[in-house]
Amino acid sequence: VSLEEVEAPDCTQEDVLVRVESCGVCGTDRSIFRGEYKVPVPMILGHEYSGTVIEKGSQVTGLSVGDRVVVDPNVVDDVCFYCRRGFSNLCSGLSPIGTHRNGGFAEISAVPARYLYRVPDSLSMSEASQIEPLACCVHGIDQAAIVSGDVVVISGSGPIGCLLIQLARLNGASTVVAIDPREARRNFARECGADVTCTPEEAPRAVDKIRPGVGADVVIVASGSVAAAELCFRYVRRGGTILMFAVYEQGASLSVSPFDINENELRVIGSYNNPATHQRAVDLLASGRVSLRGVVTHVVGLAELSKALDLGNFPTAGKIAIDPSIRAPLP
Ligand SMILES: [Zn+2]
Repeated sequence: VSLEEVEAPDCTQEDVLVRVESCGVCGTDRSIFRGEYKVPVPMILGHEYSGTVIEKGSQVTGLSVGDRVVVDPNVVDDVCFYCRRGFSNLCSGLSPIGTHRNGGFAEISAVPARYLYRVPDSLSMSEASQIEPLACCVHGIDQAAIVSGDVVVISGSGPIGCLLIQLARLNGASTVVAIDPREARRNFARECGADVTCTPEEAPRAVDKIRPGVGADVVIVASGSVAAAELCFRYVRRGGTILMFAVYEQGASLSVSPFDINENELRVIGSYNNPATHQRAVDLLASGRVSLRGVVTHVVGLAELSKALDLGNFPTAGKIAIDPSIRAPLP
C-alpha cells in the first residue's frame, strides 16, 4: 500500500464527485492487503464511505452540490441473468467501487449518481460510513428470516455483530445471545442490546439454559473463525437456521455432519452484499431505531492506512475509519 498524489477523477455526465470525509476499513480490505482476495492493481481501495457532493455531471438529477451522501459500492451491469432475475448482489458483471474501480481511500472520488444516498443530518460522517455494512446486515437479517419470539444467537461481536444484534431485536427476537472471546466486545454487545453474552466455549451451555434441550432458532455466524462456525451446529435447534454471514478466506472449509443437517432439517444459508437495502439502512438510522454510535472507535489519516490494515496495530479497535482531511498521524 502506498500513499500517492494522483489526478483528480473526471466527472462524467452520470457521475458525482464526492469529497470523502470518512471511509471505513473493512475486513475485505484486510483480506486484499494480505493477498487472500485478489483485485486488479493499482487500485484505490475503500468501499465504506461518506462525504459531500462537490461537483455533478450534466445528467445528474436529485442531488446538489453540498449534499451529504453515502456510497453503495456495488456497481452492477443490469443485463446479466442475475440482475434480470432480481438478484443484483449476485451480478455476474459486478464491478464494485473500492475493489474493481477506484474507491474511498482518497480525498475525492467519482461515483455514478445512482449509487449515492443522502445521509440524515443526525448522523456524523464517520457513522454514515457504516451505512454500507449496515445495509449488508439488513440483507443478512432478511436471509435469516427471524420471526417474533425467536431465540437468536450471534457468534462474533465485532462491529458487524453489534449491528446484527440491534436488527435481530427489531425483527422480534425474544432473546439475543452474543458470543465473543473478547470481553470488551461482549461489553459492547450488551450496550447494543444483547440479552446474554458469553465466550464460544460457554455458548452451548448458555443457549441450553434459555431453551433446555432444544437450542436456538437462528444462529448467525459473524466471525471469520472456522471453529466458531462449527460450534454453531451444536446449539442450533432442529429445523433451525444457520446464517453464514462472515467473510472467510477463499478455500477455507468447514467440517459438519451432513447426517445432522438432514436428520435435523437444518437450513444453512449465505448472505452476500446488500441488494436494495441501503435506503432501508438509512431509514433505520434516521428513525433512531438502529444506532451506529460507538461502532467506529478510531479515526486516522490516509498516512496511517497501511497501519490500519493490520488489526494487530489496533488491538482494542472496533471499526477504524480513514478521514482524508487528517494530514499527519495522530499522536
Ligand atoms: Zn448483473
